[in-house]
Formats: sequence, structure tokens, C-alpha cells
Amino acid sequence: MEESMVEKKSDSSSKTSSSTEAGAEKVANSVLFPCKYASSGCEVTLPQTDKREHEELCDFRPYSCPYPATSCRWQGSLDAVMPHLVQKHKSIPTLQGEDVVILTIDINMPGEIFWLMMQSCFGFHFMLVLQKRRKYGGSHQFFAIVQLIGTEKQAEKFGYRLELNKPQHRLTWEARPCSIHENIASAIMNDGCLIFDTFVAHLFAQNGNLDIKTSWIKRFTHYDTCRAATTDMAIDGLDCNPLIEHLLLCRTVTSVLQ
Ligand SMILES: [Zn+2]
Ligand SMILES: [Zn+2]
Repeated sequence: MEESMVEKKSDSSSKTSSSTEAGAEKVANSVLFPCKYASSGCEVTLPQTDKREHEELCDFRPYSCPYPATSCRWQGSLDAVMPHLVQKHKSIPTLQGEDVVILTIDINMPGEIFWLMMQSCFGFHFMLVLQKRRKYGGSHQFFAIVQLIGTEKQAEKFGYRLELNKPQHRLTWEARPCSIHENIASAIMNDGCLIFDTFVAHLFAQNGNLDIKTSWIKRFTHYDTCRAATTDMAIDGLDCNPLIEHLLLCRTVTSVLQ
């Protein structure tokens, strides 16, 4: 009998303590803190518990240098990325215009190398990166990817098409660009880019030079017209591949891509 009373007492004391904790948590959650990138322009305020998750994806977090060489440790705001590339990585050729760009490369250059090109259109800068990498077994593969000097949300509004052409053959890749906030290595690992091997490169090359044509699909108005996804929320949060699958399946998109 005595024992059960002791148990009861301890029960009620644990209830009091858990209700106190719940109360404290409620108070803590009602206190809002500014994002740590507030000085860079982020106006979000949120409970301490949600702060870290937001800050890991905040559009105002520092951008790393998108130049595909590990030696550059530069970080800064989005506005400072282009001035940094122009000043420190002067060799990047830049082309204006949204329709067609040709990058010609010598596919026989030895070793693991990359080619870069900037393109300005729609008021944004895009970076085309082509990498030649060694596969297990010694042969090489080519990876072509386009990155927007901008946020993930801005990148979702664009589409591009890469083409290799020769009489009677055409290889086409369409995708949305990645943001420079996204990890290019993981995009490559997840097949989020055009991949072709040396056999294909030689098939399309002329005298060892390969022309890659980049066409810009006009800014997506997909979100305004797609009936399958009536709100941005429905496809927000999808990463590159499911979004492209969705776009390919979506009947309205064919009229938008012209
Ligand atoms: Zn923020
Ligand atoms: Zn740099």
C-alpha cells in the first residue's frame, strides 16, 4: 500500500515536471530570432528550434566560388560572385544572348580537365561546365552541366538544352540549371547532367573538336500554366530529376518551351 502511494507521488511529480517543460518549450517557440544572415538581407525570424534548418538553406548564406578548382576558397554574397570571377578567374570566355552558344573543345587533350564558359541572358549569368574525368578502368567520360549564378528558386525558372550534332545524328539534353548554391559534384553523381563517353565524343567530333550548342529555353512560365501542379508548393522541394520528369509529362509545357 505504502509502495503504491510512493509510486503515485512520483507519477504526479513527473507530470508536473513534463508540463513545466512543455510550457517552457512553448514560450521558447514563441520567441523569434533573426536569421544569422540578417545583415546580408534575410528578413526571416523564427524560433530557435527552426533556425539551424533555415540557415543551412537560406538564400543569403555565403556563396562559394563556383570556379571548378578546389584551390579557390573565396566566399561571399551573391552580388560579389561575378566581380570575383571576373577579377580572379579572368580566363572565362563570356557570351551574350539567350539563343545559341557554341563551345568548341579539343577532346583529345590529355588528363582530367574542364572547360568553362559564361553566358549572359535574361539578366542573369550562367556558367557551362564541361569536365573530362577518368572512369574506373582508365577510359574517360564527359560531364556537361549549367549553373546559374543565382539562388535555387531563380534556377527553377529556367531551362536549357545542350546539343551535339552531326549529319543524321543528334544528342540532346534538357534540364534546369543548377544554382551555384547546389553541389555540382552531387549533381554529377546523381546524373543531373549530360554524360557521354569518349566513343560518343569521337562520333560527334570533327578533327578532334567537339561543338556543344547551348540553347536557352525561354524562362519557364510553367508555374503559371501547369494544371497538374496548381500551386508552386506542389513542385517546390523537388530536386532536378523529378522536376524534369514532371515537366516532360506535363502536356502544357510543350507550348511553353517555344
Ligand atoms: Zn535566412
Ligand atoms: Zn574563385
